[in-house]
Amino acid sequence: MSNDERLSRPVCTRRSVLGFAASSAAAMGIVPLSQTSAGTTVKSRSTKRIAIIGGGFCGLTAARELKRSGHDVTVFEARDRLGGRTFTSQFAGRTVDLGGTWIHWQQPHLWAEIQRYGVELEETPGATANRFVYLDAAGTRCEASVAEQWPKIEKAVSDLFDGGYSTMPRPALPFGDRKWIDADTFSVRSKLDELDMPDEIRPIVDALIMTWGNAPGVQVSWIDMMRWYALAGYSLTVVNDAVSRFRIRGGTNTLLQAIGKDSQANIRLSAPISSVRETDSLVEVVVAGGEIHVADAVICTVPLNTLTDISFSPPICLKKKEESLRRHAGSGFKVHILLDGVFDNVTCLAPGDDAAINAMIWEGTENGKTHVIAFGPSAAVFHMNDITSVQNEVRKFFPDAKVLETYAHDWNGDQFSKGTWFVSRPGQASNALKELQAPQGRIFFASADWANGWRGFIDGAIEQGIVAARGIRER
Ligand SMILES: Cc1cc2nc3c(=O)[nH]c(=O)nc-3n(C[C@H](O)[C@H](O)[C@H](O)COP(=O)(O)OP(=O)(O)OC[C@H]3O[C@@H](n4cnc5c(N)ncnc54)[C@H](O)[C@@H]3O)c2cc1C
Repeated sequence: MSNDERLSRPVCTRRSVLGFAASSAAAMGIVPLSQTSAGTTVKSRSTKRIAIIGGGFCGLTAARELKRSGHDVTVFEARDRLGGRTFTSQFAGRTVDLGGTWIHWQQPHLWAEIQRYGVELEETPGATANRFVYLDAAGTRCEASVAEQWPKIEKAVSDLFDGGYSTMPRPALPFGDRKWIDADTFSVRSKLDELDMPDEIRPIVDALIMTWGNAPGVQVSWIDMMRWYALAGYSLTVVNDAVSRFRIRGGTNTLLQAIGKDSQANIRLSAPISSVRETDSLVEVVVAGGEIHVADAVICTVPLNTLTDISFSPPICLKKKEESLRRHAGSGFKVHILLDGVFDNVTCLAPGDDAAINAMIWEGTENGKTHVIAFGPSAAVFHMNDITSVQNEVRKFFPDAKVLETYAHDWNGDQFSKGTWFVSRPGQASNALKELQAPQGRIFFASADWANGWRGFIDGAIEQGIVAARGIRER
């Protein structure tokens, strides 16, 4: 089966998705629309028609929250599947995630959902590998013990982030502290280059930070990378666990489906919204093709990079428009790779903005084959679904490797994401966050891309869904 065929085979089929709303409430033992989940009756005149644009984690969380408040909620999703920048699929006989994957209990909104739905976790064994295989500045293959180097790596990362706490003591309260805003003037590359690090540590630290940034380091805000470190309690070990160790059993789709089913919202798939028009008393949401849906309020959850693809009347504020056109920096790739043969559990790292692959994580072996996941800074330069290109890069770490199969989604080429996870350019988030979050009239804007805390993560998407739903209830 080709990669394209796999991608056109959604994990959430239209039938299963529509099932959220299609089964009658009585048959499913669910409280009727006019009641809250606590059983209190909501007066019908307070029931509002809410249209939600986008069926990722943010949109579905907002849908569930507003349905529970007794509102009439319809989610319009452009793709033929839910999940947005999360996408659970199959590769080499395994369930894999092509987008958002790893989670952690330090992520409060996400963790509440894990507990609410009783979702189980699995571990990526490569996150706790014993050895690094890395390329030094000259491109020479080197090996090192993780246990021996880790304290030095932790010290270098602490230096990179100036110790962390004093600059960003409130990483989840972005407007509680001006210090990070004033400090957001340069790239993580310039800070990496100015630091004095031991030769055997520099390439490892450089490659780790580049992997977080998912873009050439010159495009990535230094303080935005510090935010990850700060949110993880200023611990490199916890960032590592949060971004490469713990994942949801059955894939992120397991949690997404739980939220979606619980929402009982109307879900419209393959329904891209082309324009949103607000009048004095309502909002018209226009599906591409011309169908008009009337709502009392709208939550728009599309990614920053696609916001200007919807025509808003009155227009969105200049800052929203400028930042959408400028795009966030996250523009690299994530690719699943199947190798012929059994390779050891090692973490492979390569430094620099020009590296094709910055990191390769080991996912396990089965039937004499090894599954690894690679990340790199530029999907435009590296052909992640071309076996020969991938094999040439993988051989820098495993010289005799033979690549059997690769599997990636082109998030940058996908018109409904136009990028990967949110990564701030220098000065971008500090300059625009408040305006990106601001509602305009009856239209609320919510996305992981402008979350307060874990911006660019599933947790941030859930946070924003909750915040937007509260905004509508308060209104
Ligand atoms: C490769 C990759 C790896 C990642 N790894 C991790 C990770 O390990 N851990 C983690 O926490 N996060 C990770 N992330 C980030 C995480 O997946 C996202 O931050 C999060 O899923 C975003 O959720 P959202 O609902 O805000 O936006 P989205 O998921 O982008 O949802 C927005 C929805 O809007 C829809 N849409 C767009 N335009 C329209 C339109 N005109 N009309 C209707 N619908 C529209 C889209 O199709 C989409 O479904 C990763 C992302 C990528 C791409």
